[in-house]
Amino acid sequence: KEFKLYLQPKYNPVSEKPVGAEALVRWDSPEDGLISPSSFIPIFEENGFITQLYDYMVSELAKLQSEWKLQGKKPFPVSVNVSRANFTKENLAQHICGLVDAYGAEHAYIELEVTESAFFGDKEMLQKIIQELKMYGFRVSMDDFGAGYSSLNSLKDLTVDVLKLDMDFFRGGDMGPRGEIVVKEAIRLAKSLNMQVVAEGIEQKQQVEFLAEQGCDMIQGFYFAKPMPVEEFEKMMNRYPA
Ligand code: C2E
Ligand code: MG
Ligand code: MG
Repeated sequence: KEFKLYLQPKYNPVSEKPVGAEALVRWDSPEDGLISPSSFIPIFEENGFITQLYDYMVSELAKLQSEWKLQGKKPFPVSVNVSRANFTKENLAQHICGLVDAYGAEHAYIELEVTESAFFGDKEMLQKIIQELKMYGFRVSMDDFGAGYSSLNSLKDLTVDVLKLDMDFFRGGDMGPRGEIVVKEAIRLAKSLNMQVVAEGIEQKQQVEFLAEQGCDMIQGFYFAKPMPVEEFEKMMNRYPA
């Protein structure tokens, strides 16, 4: 229980209201304090513990959403990261269903984020898993789009619902004229494929304005909010009327 689920809200850039969130893990170590995932996930990827961590996060999210349901709260969509290692499991979709159904959470409000690098392996198998997840009513997103090499190709083959533009597009604040063209066209491409677009790592107001103009659906970044503990997230949500 030293691993904690944090939530980072995603905002509609026009209304500036939270419309979703991403679940992110934090290791709250009694000896070392709060440890960020970049320090332990690479190790867990190697020693195989990552699949357990991931299962735990899906379960924690399902538990949280069923609690919200019991409290009579309006369902709120939250995404959770799926490790690459999980995408080699043939029965991944059934497995996730099992974890979520143990708490009776609604599938439609759970989104599974897969990084582009997971798309390196057997594409046919990945597409099969994505289709199954969608058949069960989950949403699937491609995380960190544009950070790897296989992006465009993956978009051709994999029928994901959401495209998450990698932080690298927005690092440093000024995208520059070329950067703006690339982002604008990436959003247009996603729209043509009937996908929603989330921009990650947004820290500045002019980026929010630019993305709103381009029709980007959601913004996740420090400009609006950092990842926060569940209690803090709930307090923040209470400030917004349903
Ligand atoms: P990710 O899924 O792409 O998550 C987004 C990361 O960007 C988060 O870092 C978040 O804190 C950070 N971020 C968001 N907005 C901003 C911003 O405006 N500026 C900056 N500088 N950073 C921003 P975090 O939480 O450290 O997570 C890092 C990565 O670790 C995640 O990248 C994800 O790949 C992985 N990860 C985190 N939690 C889990 C988990 O529960 N399971 C698995 N399998 N992987 C996880
Ligand atoms: Mg993610
Ligand atoms: Mg990302």
